[in-house]
Amino acid sequence: METIRFGCQVVSMNVESSTSYAMLQLHDGSLIKAKVLIGCDGANSVIADYIGLKPTRPFTSCAVRGLTFYPNGHGFAPEFLRVRKDKYLVGRIPIDEKTVYWFVVLQWTQGDAEMPKDSVSIRQMTIDITAGFSKDIVDMIEKSDLSSLSLTRLRYRAPWNLLSGNFRRETVTVAGDAWHVKGPFLGQGGSAALEDAIVLARCISKKIGDVDLNGSRMPLSAQKAIEALDEYLKERRQRVVLSSLLTYLRGLLLVEDSSILVRFLSILIISVMFRDPSSHTRYDCGKL
Ligand SMILES: Cc1cc2nc3c(=O)[nH]c(=O)nc-3n(C[C@H](O)[C@H](O)[C@H](O)COP(=O)(O)OP(=O)(O)OC[C@H]3O[C@@H](n4cnc5c(N)ncnc54)[C@H](O)[C@@H]3O)c2cc1C
Repeated sequence: METIRFGCQVVSMNVESSTSYAMLQLHDGSLIKAKVLIGCDGANSVIADYIGLKPTRPFTSCAVRGLTFYPNGHGFAPEFLRVRKDKYLVGRIPIDEKTVYWFVVLQWTQGDAEMPKDSVSIRQMTIDITAGFSKDIVDMIEKSDLSSLSLTRLRYRAPWNLLSGNFRRETVTVAGDAWHVKGPFLGQGGSAALEDAIVLARCISKKIGDVDLNGSRMPLSAQKAIEALDEYLKERRQRVVLSSLLTYLRGLLLVEDSSILVRFLSILIISVMFRDPSSHTRYDCGKL
């Protein structure tokens, strides 16, 4: 049975009314039929649109992301470094002893057409804007792997849009950035997506584990799938709203050209609601 297919782009979807199966239309014209559909298709999710989530909003900034490989080891401490200078924010996280992941956040002030599109121009622009940073940062960007570079407009899903509303339609829901877009401000986007996956798998497996009166395991019915998805959304909602709020406020403070009042309110909310600055990293989503 084909369980994983690479290189598929979902262009649209709908649900077949007679069977309640989700029908995914792929770019090559083929169809995938799914009893349960979890949209993990990131910030521009087609599945989130189908469910009816309010659209994501753009920050006024964008980010270059890349990897740099150091054949003889980089020698950096295993920590998330974040340095801000003028209007630019640089982040660096070692992946292993020889590879470093980094990002540079800058204002998206020019028109779309003026932003660099190819890797060579993206790297050159990044080298130019980070010229005043320390030598290790300048070197890291100069030696970056061209094939790893990307330039992305930063987006967010407004935390107040996550407070209420239904994030399921029939047996279709979302996880990861498709539900709660995370920028580079907390370093928690990857973890948050994995937390979704663990809670979702737990909720679905409980329903698959249901047995009938004869003790036989029952197949997952549409009704049971809906119950599982609702349990998942309920369990995750508070964490998703709070982490999205913190991401949003940090974004306003770190990269947006916010007014003094907005900055003051952001700091006030963070200091009241998120007094412990690293508590979001200690969240326990339970066992699989
Ligand atoms: C600049 C920047 C820096 C960041 N730094 C960090 C960090 O240091 N640490 C951290 O934890 N998080 C970081 N994040 C956040 C993190 O990248 C995301 O939260 C995380 O990648 C979300 O994972 P995901 O699988 O939900 O979505 P994604 O990683 O966006 O994956 C979605 C996938 O779906 C595919 N896809 C999209 N549309 C379709 C379609 N129509 N059909 C088929 N496939 C589709 C995409 O190609 C992609 O492979 C950063 C984000 C940004 C923008």
